[in-house]
Amino acid sequence: MNKQNNKKGKVVIVSGPSGVGKSTICKEVVKRLDKAYLSVSVTTRPKAESEVNGQDYLFLSTEEFSRWVEKGLLLEHAEVFGHLYGTPKDKVEEALQSGKTTILEIDVQGAKQVKTIHPDAVMIFILPPTQKELANRMSNRGREDTAKVEERLDGAGTEIAAAWQYYEYMIINDNLEQAVSEMTQIIKHNPGDKEC
Ligand code: 5GP
Repeated sequence: MNKQNNKKGKVVIVSGPSGVGKSTICKEVVKRLDKAYLSVSVTTRPKAESEVNGQDYLFLSTEEFSRWVEKGLLLEHAEVFGHLYGTPKDKVEEALQSGKTTILEIDVQGAKQVKTIHPDAVMIFILPPTQKELANRMSNRGREDTAKVEERLDGAGTEIAAAWQYYEYMIINDNLEQAVSEMTQIIKHNPGDKEC
């Protein structure tokens, strides 16, 4: 086997406040990379109307989620805004073994867990241009009621504060094309691939 085939994919962690546009950016970045996989998390959060089960998330009951944890099927998991979220381990390992850049769109708690398992993981945090813009985007999305939007906005401050400490790259999502291009460049130019 030549050296090329032995290359393991790199892990890319993408975090940022709710409503900042992480999913849109990540979906676009995956299209621009040669070999990439965007992890689909499991969650106990109720499915929004616009979401597709198995595509945006795998929606589980709390009991099902507990079984995934007990069986050791999750790479990391955390409670975020009152719901449980986790990254399926097998799919990530499979993608890494086949040399794919594996993007995990997860919160700061999950990012810390993954960083201990994959110390070479590239850590990217997406910021909104302003707090007001974040509030607008969240309201316009229409997914959460006013109380939930308030809760998520409060959480954003805490997450952004933690981000300055833990993340290597910060991208401001002011212009979608620019944010996508910045993230693609960071991933392409970052070492992190390891020999199997
Ligand atoms: P949302 O409910 O808006 O889709 O996601 C809420 C938060 O959960 C976001 O910060 C998102 O990054 C985070 N999240 C989504 N999937 C996972 C996951 O698998 N693990 C962890 N730790 N956080 C996740």
